[in-house]
Amino acid sequence: MPLMKSWVASANSAETPFPLNNLPYGVFSRAGEDPRCGVAIGDMILDMAALEAAGLIALDAEAVFDLPFWNQVMELAPEVWAKLRGHLHAMLVDGSGDQATIAPYLVPQADAQLHMPFMVSEYTDFYAGRQHAQNMGAILRGSPDLPANWLHIPIGYNGRASSVVVSGTQINRPNGQTKAPDADMPSFGPSKRLDIELEIGAIVGTPSEFGAPVTVDQADAMIFGFVLLNDWSARDIQAWEYQPLGPFQGKAFGTSISPWIVTKAALEPFRVPTPACEKALLPYLDGTIDGLYDIALEVLMQPEGAAKPTSICKTNAKRLYYSAAEQLCHHASGGCGMNAGDLLGSGTISGPEKSEFGSLMELSWAGRAPFTLDTGEIRTFIEDNDTLILRGAALGDGYQIGFGTCTGKIRPAVKFPA
Ligand code: CA
Repeated sequence: MPLMKSWVASANSAETPFPLNNLPYGVFSRAGEDPRCGVAIGDMILDMAALEAAGLIALDAEAVFDLPFWNQVMELAPEVWAKLRGHLHAMLVDGSGDQATIAPYLVPQADAQLHMPFMVSEYTDFYAGRQHAQNMGAILRGSPDLPANWLHIPIGYNGRASSVVVSGTQINRPNGQTKAPDADMPSFGPSKRLDIELEIGAIVGTPSEFGAPVTVDQADAMIFGFVLLNDWSARDIQAWEYQPLGPFQGKAFGTSISPWIVTKAALEPFRVPTPACEKALLPYLDGTIDGLYDIALEVLMQPEGAAKPTSICKTNAKRLYYSAAEQLCHHASGGCGMNAGDLLGSGTISGPEKSEFGSLMELSWAGRAPFTLDTGEIRTFIEDNDTLILRGAALGDGYQIGFGTCTGKIRPAVKFPA
């Protein structure tokens, strides 16, 4: 599929993350205004709340756009999502008769602040990156062998919705309990092994009923869109706390997401199958869809005062072993109800080469192999005032479906107890 031309000139470049092919959904405001729904097109935002108030768009529902989240739209059926996308395309396509009517409702992105694009109902984090799981095994257990369940279960744990924040939000280095291997007693204080995890977040749109499982194909149809997701991780806190019940405080102090929801429809041309299963999945995880997406991903690190960030990882979302639809099917298989706004983290995405490792734990091999930034500074884990940046885009023929960036700066730990 080629670039679709828009009358919004900035949407027609091969470099813009937001051509007409994309049309991602966000929440924005200008100074003194209330946050409301908008759609990115080139370097502009289409003010959906103002369009709705003017009677220029309606979705067979009560007002859904003059709200600081897209959950109301998500809860409408996939047919309505398609209808909305069709309306937006017709309004913004080159040659549209609506140009003069719609143009006044465009706001420059440069004037806008972006907010959380949806209310996170609940947050579940998975572990679907095979290379990451093998690397973690090699680092922590001395063997890259996968855990016995890994090739059968899309492994996950229930995280915290309250700690999911939008790109740009600063993250405090967490305090927590750690224990050095040779110490008699644990101690409490700032994490010394603060890390990122490069992930894609899938957002559930259509709810499922409590007690009712869904198939992989039904799960795929329930997904509304995707964001970049950085699952900040305190490795030293995690190492001491995680047995026998899994991660807790080491994963509960911040998860950053990119501000634009890229719809499943925009990513449709970039679908790719999951890798051939080494061991056949149980029949309840069978599906007919290609569940992964070809999305180029990059991580950059920028110390305080550095003129430019250093690229430290380049990989691709197609490296995942399980799809979001398989994870969602597994999630609901025992009867767990899923809600509009449920966020599913893919798990850290890493490829086979070191340049494709999606966490600092892997890049520095647990601190044993420090790496050098373009500034000459040396890192193993994140230092205070470092900024981490995730980027992602599906690369088409002369256009891209961009996610924008997912950034976060690490602030020094708060003093606790005071
Ligand atoms: Ca994670």
